[in-house]
Amino acid sequence: IQAFVEPYQIPGASAALNRNLAAMAESFAVTDDKVREIIAEFHRSMRAGLDKDDRDALPMIPTFVSRRPTGKETGHFLALDLGGTNLRVCQVELRGDTTYSLVQQKFTITQEAKESRLWDFIAECVGIFLEEHDLRPKPGRRTIPCGFTFSFPIFQTSIASGDLSMWNKGFTVPNSVGRDVVNLTQSAFQRHHVPVEVVAIVNDTVGTLMTSAYSFPDTQMGIIFGTGTNAAYWENLSAVGKWKGDRRGEMVVNLEWGAFDNATHVLPYTMHDNKLNRKSSNPGMQVYEKMISGLFLGEVARNAILALVDQRLLFAGRSSEILNKSYTFDTAYMSAIVADDSPGLDAVGTVLEATLELPPTDLVDRRAVQNVCRMIGTRGVRLSAAAMAAVLLSRPELLASPVSVGIDGSMYQFYPNFERDLYAVSRVFLGADFVDNRLKLHLAKDGSGVGAAIVAMTVEEERVAAAA
Ligand code: BGC
Ligand code: MG
Repeated sequence: IQAFVEPYQIPGASAALNRNLAAMAESFAVTDDKVREIIAEFHRSMRAGLDKDDRDALPMIPTFVSRRPTGKETGHFLALDLGGTNLRVCQVELRGDTTYSLVQQKFTITQEAKESRLWDFIAECVGIFLEEHDLRPKPGRRTIPCGFTFSFPIFQTSIASGDLSMWNKGFTVPNSVGRDVVNLTQSAFQRHHVPVEVVAIVNDTVGTLMTSAYSFPDTQMGIIFGTGTNAAYWENLSAVGKWKGDRRGEMVVNLEWGAFDNATHVLPYTMHDNKLNRKSSNPGMQVYEKMISGLFLGEVARNAILALVDQRLLFAGRSSEILNKSYTFDTAYMSAIVADDSPGLDAVGTVLEATLELPPTDLVDRRAVQNVCRMIGTRGVRLSAAAMAAVLLSRPELLASPVSVGIDGSMYQFYPNFERDLYAVSRVFLGADFVDNRLKLHLAKDGSGVGAAIVAMTVEEERVAAAA
């Protein structure tokens, strides 16, 4: 623990502030032993979830994706990517030589769409894209086939259907939980006269896995470290007890690891996590995600900073109207704060004074805020690495060969040194030999959309083959 506490002490700060920072550092620390405990619990929870659907287990959702891409797939395909922040509509070109390109239009998902008219919003955006890019069905067809990447948990009943199990990441659209999201989308397309047919629906982690596999055939896992977090991996069907179909071969399984620890209690919750959790749109759910992902880290930091303000240890005890409101301390500010290595911590000062409109800060204030952000960011990276290690260790036979992992998301792309730290922490739990010589993490940029196109293309090929 000492090693986690020491770096956060500030020379010249009051004893009370340093005492509080020490206590805070201890509460946010994830020791190596803790990581081992988490990995063990992950394994129990993965096995239980593969066996049956159970509240105490990880969801471990079979995705109906059972063919690895070859890298030779070619053609143009329409894809939709509904994330936690943006909706992307893309026309993907697979070049058949393991490379791809895409034309895409990004729409920020409005608050109104998150709360009520999401399906109409999607149809409108797709309509705009078709119009602007002059896309229409091929001769002899009534619709354009499309792959849909969906970044929320669905229990899939086929490659082109799945019932929404719950909303998260702040979405609350009514009349959707328990219903087939492809149907809901398709009806909206009809209402808006959008000639598109969803032929495949994949989780964004599955899309990321497929995209990475298109370029790197040894890809075993796809991960999102973004607004939310989750992963998908290849599993032998013989290990999927709850799978009712043919048990030969393999299938991509969507872990929904954001739900880890919903029912157990291994994670190191602090009062700041509990406060966030209680006030969230899904209390008690996605508790792992709430410690790791971009939507929540800033809010945990805001709670922790306010606790110091309330003890008059920061900003002479004053807050600001902005800082007093939930979710105003964006994780992007956290990144800027953590990255600042200027002697006067100027970037930290800018966020605090210009953006958050706090009263003038001194160097101790700035250093303290930076330290709080670092504690919470470090905890996030260590928990992220723990989850990745747990999944890879669940297939120990894989570790003898090279393994690629496709990753996408704002935390992986923008949080300072995220990838470097992921490698460093992984070394401890996966072994230096494997991490240094065989593990390769790849940014699967825009992977979720491209992956949906790859899966949709496979489905279309099979349809054509069946019709011939
Ligand atoms: C969702 C997952 C998704 C992840 C990353 C989570 O909130 O439950 O389905 O893969 O976010 O977007
Ligand atoms: Mg995304």
